[in-house]
Amino acid sequence: MEVLSTWEPDLAVDIAARGPNERPRRFLGQNGFIRDSTGRGWALVGDAGYFKDPLTAHGITDAFLDSHRLAQAFARNPSDVGEYQDERDHFAHRLFEITEDIASLNWDLEMLKLLHIELNGCMKAEGESLKVGELAGAVISAA
Ligand SMILES: Cc1cc2nc3c(=O)[nH]c(=O)nc-3n(C[C@H](O)[C@H](O)[C@H](O)COP(=O)(O)OP(=O)(O)OC[C@H]3O[C@@H](n4cnc5c(N)ncnc54)[C@H](O)[C@@H]3O)c2cc1C
Repeated sequence: MEVLSTWEPDLAVDIAARGPNERPRRFLGQNGFIRDSTGRGWALVGDAGYFKDPLTAHGITDAFLDSHRLAQAFARNPSDVGEYQDERDHFAHRLFEITEDIASLNWDLEMLKLLHIELNGCMKAEGESLKVGELAGAVISAA
């Protein structure tokens, strides 16, 4: 509230008047991972299969995208949804590395800018792949 009062005094007064909605919960950090996410009769979506630091704010998108890709793979071939994981990993690895770099806080502002430009490129490519309904031609690296 002290910090907020410095930059946004009106907002700070408003929030102070309303009081907390619930007790604040701290996120103490958690190592990221990318797991094998399909097998015979099972599949993982969202954080269960692939978790990265929330600093790039992409986890909810990932969870929806995973569900979408898994549903599509299942519709194509209910007995083998392995394509779902291939499609996820096509984007997941670079997004994961960029996120790790940003979350490390081991950057200067110029490097952070470049990381965000590449992150933006990845997200655009991901969006394009949804539009055309296939991954072919998607460009991962904006560099
Ligand atoms: C501090 C923080 C900030 C974040 N900020 C953002 C953000 O700004 N933008 C963004 O996109 N993402 C953000 N994320 C990430 C995002 O919250 C997650 O990636 C997303 O919620 C994952 O969705 P999910 O459905 O895979 O998992 P979850 O949301 O974890 O849902 C899994 C659910 O399953 C339940 N469950 C677990 N085990 C069992 C069981 N055995 N039986 C029944 N139920 C069970 C859990 O209780 C939970 O409700 C943030 C994460 C954190 C920690």
